[in-house]
Amino acid sequence: MASVTAADEKRVLDAAPHQLWIGGEWRDASNGATLGIEDPSTEETLCTIADGTPDDAVAALDAACDVQDEWAQTPPRDRGEILRRTFELMNERADDLALLMTLEMGKPIAESKSEIVYASEFIRWFSEQAVRIDGRYSVNPNGSGRLLTMKQPIGPCLLITPWNFPTAMGTRKIGPAVAAGCTMVVKPAQQTPLSMLALAAIMKEAGLPDGVLNVITSSKASSVTEPLMDDPRLRKMSFTGSTPIGKMLMEQASKRLIKCSMELGGNAPFLVFDDADLDAAVEQGVIAKMRNIGESCVAANRFHVHESVADEFAARLTEKLAAMKVARGTEDGSQVGPLIDGKQRDKVAELVDDAVGKGAKVMTGGERVGDKGYFYAPTVLSDISPDAELLREEIFGPVAPVATFSTEDEAIAAANSTEFGLVAYVFTRDIKRAFRVTEALDVGMLGLNRGLVSNAAAPFGGIKESGFGKEGGPEGIEEYLSTKYVAVDL
Ligand code: NAP
Repeated sequence: MASVTAADEKRVLDAAPHQLWIGGEWRDASNGATLGIEDPSTEETLCTIADGTPDDAVAALDAACDVQDEWAQTPPRDRGEILRRTFELMNERADDLALLMTLEMGKPIAESKSEIVYASEFIRWFSEQAVRIDGRYSVNPNGSGRLLTMKQPIGPCLLITPWNFPTAMGTRKIGPAVAAGCTMVVKPAQQTPLSMLALAAIMKEAGLPDGVLNVITSSKASSVTEPLMDDPRLRKMSFTGSTPIGKMLMEQASKRLIKCSMELGGNAPFLVFDDADLDAAVEQGVIAKMRNIGESCVAANRFHVHESVADEFAARLTEKLAAMKVARGTEDGSQVGPLIDGKQRDKVAELVDDAVGKGAKVMTGGERVGDKGYFYAPTVLSDISPDAELLREEIFGPVAPVATFSTEDEAIAAANSTEFGLVAYVFTRDIKRAFRVTEALDVGMLGLNRGLVSNAAAPFGGIKESGFGKEGGPEGIEEYLSTKYVAVDL
């Protein structure tokens, strides 16, 4: 993409929808309220959008319920073709969608573009899965009859998404829900709703019938989600966000036993053994740490490096991170944008200060950048004390603590000493060790000599307090299907 101009920014902001998307209509909030969207790199308001009310949320669920039966009866091939067309439109418009995302979320434009491609891959994958929903036929073990199972759409869904990947966290849910024949209400994060509204417009253009997808934006998340969680027509809730909010939503879901998928927080260990290819470990470590400014649930949260290579690893990681360009995401060559808001920036600073107070050495960074915007310098810390908070807490920022270990058992124990279990990264050239360690780590995903695991064709998801349920892969659509068993007497 050529350099971004102020005119480009105005054009994409003017073109982006700013209202609620309910039953195929763009609507203002029922009480006329609006909500400002901030550019985290300038702290200025980009635009205002509709601030949805509980009544608006119920209207969105009404719209979803009205078309649920008809949508479930729509031929799977037709559902798949709508997704396929969505995939194509997303890629045709990738530059504008990426700019819109950068403006509201802050990440460098190249990363926003990667996210649009990644997000569209879920749409493509599930366009292909729509026609692969099947059941089973078997003979009763006693021979007296037949056992049939059939998969049916679970019904209207509530999909709640975070701000860090404004489009991809949506398409991982919308793709399989559409493919399965479910209708839905989407509640994007209040800081980054524009990307989701733009996606809704694209899906309309791609032929998605009115009411199948509805989008409610709001400054008071619980005020629009609670009435839906209490509504007996809602059959499924899929949430991506923090573990505390996920737990609270689980409590709400328990009242009506709503089926849940929970994609929650992480605290990924990145293990580097003494036999690792250090070039690869450093290169992939930069990706695992710095993708999305470190604001990723699968970000390497802590590096555990064998003591014999730790100094070299830390020095080489420092060289790479110190050379990264920190700038507004629209600027040419920007590699590190601002954090999402002042609260997140302050949390990152506090975690660094805590570690330094407990003896950590700042190899690079360790400070905020500039007066405007929520920028924080790429940071490498060595000599990490085992009681430093950032080993336990999700940092969600561009900070890489490098701790050391002596033995394989010690590395495994350190990696597993967290309530989270989303992903781990392991760097070793010893095939036996690779399998030993892979089997011993309590995680839902693992990058073996790779710093990036996300892939639409693979089941993404965690264990322990990182949640449950899978997004992507053949497993992803199962979250939106219910299995009916039919006993047949012949
Ligand atoms: P968050 O505060 O939990 O918010 C996530 C979503 O939930 C937003 O739409 C938010 O709306 C909504 N929400 C907040 N409070 C709510 C409530 N009381 N009732 C209903 N909805 C509510 O998380 P975040 O800060 O946006 O995202 C960062 C977290 O997401 C990190 O922990 C990260 O690890 C996790 N994450 C996990 C995955 C994964 O796949 N495992 C992927 C990406 C991110 P508002 O915007 O209005 O607050």
